Amino acid sequence: MPIYRAPVEDTLFVLRDVLGYERYNNLPGFAETPEVLEAVLGESARLAETDMHPLNRTGDVEGCARHEDGSVTTPKGFKKAYRQYREGGWVGLAAPVEHGGQGLPYTLHNAVSEYMVSANMALMMYPGLTQGAIATIITHGSDEQKARWLPNMVDGSWTATMNLTEPHCGTDLGLLRTRATPVGDGSYRISGQKIFISAGEHDLAENIVHLVLARIEGAPKGVKGISLFIVPKFIPDAAGNPVRRNTVACGSLEDKMGIHGNATCVMNYDDAEGHLLGEVNGGLKAMFTMMNEARLGVGLQGLAVAEAAYQNAAAYARDRLQGRSLSGAKAPDKPADPIIVHPDIRRKLMTMKAFNEAGRALLLWTAMQSDIAHRSPDEPDRQAADDLLGLLTPVVKGVLTDKGFDHAVMAQQVFGGHGYIEEHGMSQYVRDARIAMIYEGANGIQALDLVGRKLPLNGGRAVQAFFREVGEFCDENRSDETMAPYTKALKKGLNDLQAATLWLMQNGPRKPDNAGAASTEYMHLFGLVALGYMWGRMVKAAQARLAAGRDDAAFSQNKLVTGRYFMERVMPETTAQLTRISSGADTMMALPAEAF
Ligand SMILES: Cc1cc2nc3c(=O)[nH]c(=O)nc-3n(C[C@H](O)[C@H](O)[C@H](O)COP(=O)(O)OP(=O)(O)OC[C@H]3O[C@@H](n4cnc5c(N)ncnc54)[C@H](O)[C@@H]3O)c2cc1C
Repeated sequence: MPIYRAPVEDTLFVLRDVLGYERYNNLPGFAETPEVLEAVLGESARLAETDMHPLNRTGDVEGCARHEDGSVTTPKGFKKAYRQYREGGWVGLAAPVEHGGQGLPYTLHNAVSEYMVSANMALMMYPGLTQGAIATIITHGSDEQKARWLPNMVDGSWTATMNLTEPHCGTDLGLLRTRATPVGDGSYRISGQKIFISAGEHDLAENIVHLVLARIEGAPKGVKGISLFIVPKFIPDAAGNPVRRNTVACGSLEDKMGIHGNATCVMNYDDAEGHLLGEVNGGLKAMFTMMNEARLGVGLQGLAVAEAAYQNAAAYARDRLQGRSLSGAKAPDKPADPIIVHPDIRRKLMTMKAFNEAGRALLLWTAMQSDIAHRSPDEPDRQAADDLLGLLTPVVKGVLTDKGFDHAVMAQQVFGGHGYIEEHGMSQYVRDARIAMIYEGANGIQALDLVGRKLPLNGGRAVQAFFREVGEFCDENRSDETMAPYTKALKKGLNDLQAATLWLMQNGPRKPDNAGAASTEYMHLFGLVALGYMWGRMVKAAQARLAAGRDDAAFSQNKLVTGRYFMERVMPETTAQLTRISSGADTMMALPAEAF
């Protein structure tokens, strides 16, 4: 049976010591939390560890079932756990108070969600998509729509879905065919088929609110002719009571590699009643509100699964006896030493630990930008935060999920053959982590978004600000001897990233394949520098704790060592990335398609 312990101390370190969470108490929602921060994290940790984690493996084994009437049941125990989550007010933790939420920081929502997703990713996908749908209705809905849909979504009695994908189109949404026909009373009839819809049908909530992309008859071709619709499973009356079944149904469940406890549905819309959300033909723009939110949520999944897998690998490595340490027996009274004595096992554990701790900081720093962008009274601060949020979103999604999967595999490797046996749960982590690289825009598309859209946006304002911030951090700490090993490596990584950016600016526009060929490596190079910057800040914060004589010296010392490992063993990869990027697209594109 796999184990899981929520890393509360680490989250508190990132929030308080690294990000200066308590300095933001001028922002709505932040002022309330300093004294309740530990209580909120502690309570969510308890829920995750005690109620959600035990259902992770059973949910994987049992999966979901579709019945003849089209209804879907979730694995045993999911209903109760979801009810606990809902009744605890976790769905609306960061939602605005006027819509029934608690108005607490989105940063805190992310901190809490990491624990829940580590404990049970499949279960958390039911309320997970509701978050993005709430944000989309708040941003694009009319007052009447907000009043009609939000309260039940915020309190979790209704969940939501995101319907983009069709059998013939996933990435290229310009091809989508689902039709919307105006009825004349302001509503529309929606017809078509959507596939791969997460949480499309289930038994956890009273109603399901589908946000559906469709093409109004006569709309322009391509992405400019797509609109967004609210299509509920049950049509509610004015008081919000679901009264009439809409003509939308789950046609079948996908039989898939992982996240078995989450129902991935084929959804058939057969003249279903729908309501336009946002502007006619403005659907993709509106859906981007949901997708950006969801992309951070998926990046979080990468981190969360990697953290759970790592914890199990560390525990196994302390326990499993095989071979003797190269430097002499460490457990001479036992038939062999625990495998944690072997450098190659340490390499794996340190790599995972170094990524997870920096990944947590990067995720929370990015979420903090969302809070500042939406809540700060200061316009320049809002804009700077919004720039950074846009820039970092594809990096968080792409890098944390690529690495999350790699590290789930790495953790599985620590188990040797036992990692391949379902009983230990490592196979499930690998299977569950894999999807996060694919959905919400496959990672190749995240890389293109970063290179093609986010870098040049507003004349490169966001990326220049990021370079300035990291560069200034290195300069400010250069003369500090204790920081030098960290800042030197970070500065080298930053130089490589700036050189790669310049190369892209010079070679991308004249030959777009160069930009496409460089994009994934560029995203990872960016990720290394962003994670390295997080390590720089974490090390500085750990040193401050040590200087202040805080009584948890071992915690801070471990940060210094883990940060050093990242700088020595992981950061040097930036040089190889730069070399690959600047080799251009020629060899990649040279062979004719028949040669493959
Ligand atoms: C378990 C699961 C749950 C899902 N949940 C949802 C959901 O809730 N709602 C929803 O709408 N969808 C959902 N999806 C769909 C998912 O978002 C899509 O599968 C994904 O966006 C990729 O689309 P596709 O499968 O059509 O691949 P394609 O678009 O066919 O892409 C195939 C490959 O080509 C690459 N590619 C495509 N175009 C380009 C390009 N221009 N340049 C470079 N590379 C390119 C892609 O990166 C990918 O690697 C889910 C999928 C799964 C498997």
